Amino acid sequence: MSLEQAELLLQKYFGYPTFRSGQKKIIESILAGHNTMGIMPTGGGKSICYQIPALMFPGITLVVSPLISLMKDQVDGLKELGIPATYINSSLSAEQIDQRIIRLKQGKYKLLYLAPERLDSHRFQTIFESLPIYFVTIDEAHCISQWGHDFRPSYRSMADMILKLPRRPIIAALTATATSDVREDIASLMKIPPSHIFSTKLRRENLSFYVRHEENRSEFIQNYLRQNEGKTGIIYCATRKETDQLHALLAGAGFSVAKYHGGMSEEERNRAQEQFSYDQIQTIIATNAFGMGIDKSNVRFVIHYNMPRNLECYYQEAGRAGRDGEKSECILLFSPQDIPTQRYLITHSDMTPERKTYELNKLQKMINYCHAGGCLQKEIVSYFGEKETTTCGTCGNCRNQAGDLSDITIEAQKIFSCIKRMQERFGLTIISKVLRGSKSKRVMEWDLHKLSTYGILSEYTEKEILGLCKRLAAEGYISLAYEGGMSFPIAKLTNKAIEVLKGMRPVRIRLDHDQSLHSEPKRSH
Ligand code: ADP
Repeated sequence: MSLEQAELLLQKYFGYPTFRSGQKKIIESILAGHNTMGIMPTGGGKSICYQIPALMFPGITLVVSPLISLMKDQVDGLKELGIPATYINSSLSAEQIDQRIIRLKQGKYKLLYLAPERLDSHRFQTIFESLPIYFVTIDEAHCISQWGHDFRPSYRSMADMILKLPRRPIIAALTATATSDVREDIASLMKIPPSHIFSTKLRRENLSFYVRHEENRSEFIQNYLRQNEGKTGIIYCATRKETDQLHALLAGAGFSVAKYHGGMSEEERNRAQEQFSYDQIQTIIATNAFGMGIDKSNVRFVIHYNMPRNLECYYQEAGRAGRDGEKSECILLFSPQDIPTQRYLITHSDMTPERKTYELNKLQKMINYCHAGGCLQKEIVSYFGEKETTTCGTCGNCRNQAGDLSDITIEAQKIFSCIKRMQERFGLTIISKVLRGSKSKRVMEWDLHKLSTYGILSEYTEKEILGLCKRLAAEGYISLAYEGGMSFPIAKLTNKAIEVLKGMRPVRIRLDHDQSLHSEPKRSH
């Protein structure tokens, strides 16, 4: 089975002349019979990576996918191309499932899409054992990892079942978003050797990222929609209530909008999705219930009305823009009120204490992104473990490089030495109070007013100092990490900060675009 044969099938069935470079490596590895992992950004062309091998392998290819609502469309699409496929999920009756299994046994289909959710595991066992499954693809493979942002236990137990099959199929795990923890978890579970993990550049050249610290988010959105009339987009809100409110406001102001969230009836949701798919409305306002696997190529903007809980969620949702490769914008409207909300959701969830700490640290990285001063695209891909050296040139921060760099080495040194004096045991809020010289109860209780660094930035407001500290955290001078049971992150110095303290490294940042800093710091020499 060669790549040339695979390419002929690509041309014959899909009409594309060649594979994309990322697809090539994944398909080659699968055809050689290796368990393989493919990490590819949304729109990168993951489906072809398993559909072509499925056509070449004997027997049946099982595609495990959480996207129940999309399965019918995917299968219909394949049928139109002349590829026999079917699906099994909880939308079918027991009789329908039995019928499909019979036809599968008769060799009538090459691909079987399966959604494990709400199906009983006994049934899987029967299905798996009765079919000549040669190749299994786990789509959205991050769902099997407990460290993933969308862990699904039913998905995991089904993966376990596949591994226990007497005749072990070739396994391909595909996903768009996987941090190194998730990658390792998937690889060890599905027995994928490191040499068969392929990751396409996560960077999306056609997307421009922006973080806006807006006082009035709905006003920003109205202006944006007016300026981008005729373009299609998604606005994500954190809650159903916020979705309803923003929808009412925008609809009332005459914008062409629909809404989508889990509290609406299935009929209402389908209607909204349809209006959006067929360009009958300009913008859909939705919670994160909307979109996993939506296949609309001409989404020109994705606006986050609230900060999501981590960068995986953010990149996946923002990545729904520009799947056709045309220039598109991803805008995050940051508001400090989003932080306690997200923190509350994590600390009051039923997760284990260990997991809560893990999630809080991911949230902290999301917050750092919102305060970053460098290339935003670079921030995102480096979060996913990619060592990107060039800047994108199109994100809000890259565009904003016109402003002068301010040298804040002295301020930074003062902040760092204060953190050191406080023995790296406190959070940024109290550190800012000490630097400001605040007489707050907590400062006094801990005797922090006796430190030599008490009040050494008294010419700044507490808010300004806190803004600077956050900025220094986002630039990698201060690490903010939750430790077991803490409700706020502890600030510690990184090596980069130690170099600043030793006078080996200056700190220069661009302050003009960061609206959390109200004024340029006054120099104090
Ligand atoms: P993903 O699942 O990774 O988000 P898809 O599999 O839906 O992406 O593919 C995204 C788009 O790219 C689809 O429109 C698909 O037809 C197209 N595509 C995939 N592979 C190729 C290729 N080799 N050449 C041209 N277009 C491709």
